[in-house]
Amino acid sequence: MKCSKCDSVAVMSRRHSGSHLCADHFTEEFEQNVLDTILKGSMVEDGDRIAVAVSGGKDSTALLYVLNKILADRLAGSEVELFAITVDEGIIGYRDDTMKLARKVAGDLGIRQEIVSFRDEYGFNLDRAVQDGAMPCTVCGVFRKNALNRAAKRLGATKLATGHNLDDEAQSVMMNYLKGDMERLARFRPRRRQPGLVPRIKPLREIPEKEVALYGIVRGFYEESTECPYARLSFRSDVRDMMNRLEDLFPGTKRSTLKGYERVLELAGDRWVQMDLSSCRTCGEPCVKGLCKACELQAKLKSE
Ligand code: SF4
Repeated sequence: MKCSKCDSVAVMSRRHSGSHLCADHFTEEFEQNVLDTILKGSMVEDGDRIAVAVSGGKDSTALLYVLNKILADRLAGSEVELFAITVDEGIIGYRDDTMKLARKVAGDLGIRQEIVSFRDEYGFNLDRAVQDGAMPCTVCGVFRKNALNRAAKRLGATKLATGHNLDDEAQSVMMNYLKGDMERLARFRPRRRQPGLVPRIKPLREIPEKEVALYGIVRGFYEESTECPYARLSFRSDVRDMMNRLEDLFPGTKRSTLKGYERVLELAGDRWVQMDLSSCRTCGEPCVKGLCKACELQAKLKSE
């Protein structure tokens, strides 16, 4: 099959639009799409120090690579600095491999990397918490967010970039719809600035997961990594399977889920605002109800 833009062989096809792209046109379009998302969301400002959350998986390594490239090629002169933060949750047989990949990509790009671990920050590792009966993805998500925000602040970051792609975003919207959790849906919109919270940016949020993986393959840094042993235990995993089935049957479902959510936000206007955050009385991190989720969970884990 030929590329829709030239005579080269296509490496990918988009079912919803019917277009086919060769490696060169695919990477060019991918990087332009990321740049457009950054510009549309005013995600990067002159003088920013961007901490990139790099787990070593395909999304975060692609994010580090493409941000580094875009900043060098397109935003040159904007004096933006990039560095990586990797969180080691303590998942034996999984995190060790992805940490190696994270170190390799950051090293190859010459980007400084900071590693923080649950063990050092909170005194436990995830495997141990799971053995004691904790729900892995709940504990992992809460402490990872907390660890990233703390590390980003310590390192003077002005933005925290994460590798969430279109599939992740559509799944999050659907999960909250299915749970009827309007408060979380409201929180899921780009956050206004809140004290103590490093603003998050998601430059890959409009790019499908398969294209993020393909970008890594075409650019030559993709390495197959093992799946987290706890991945199949989460609600997200069921929603992911459902969304993938729907996307197969009705191409464009994930994109329309995200677009539909953005339309709902527009219609909701000021009626659906994010709460003001206060400081956790134990650790000082931003929180909604006086005690942050990480401190609440930490107390629970200690008492079990
Ligand atoms: Fe953490 Fe769950 Fe992701 Fe594993 S699948 S890394 S436990 S959030």
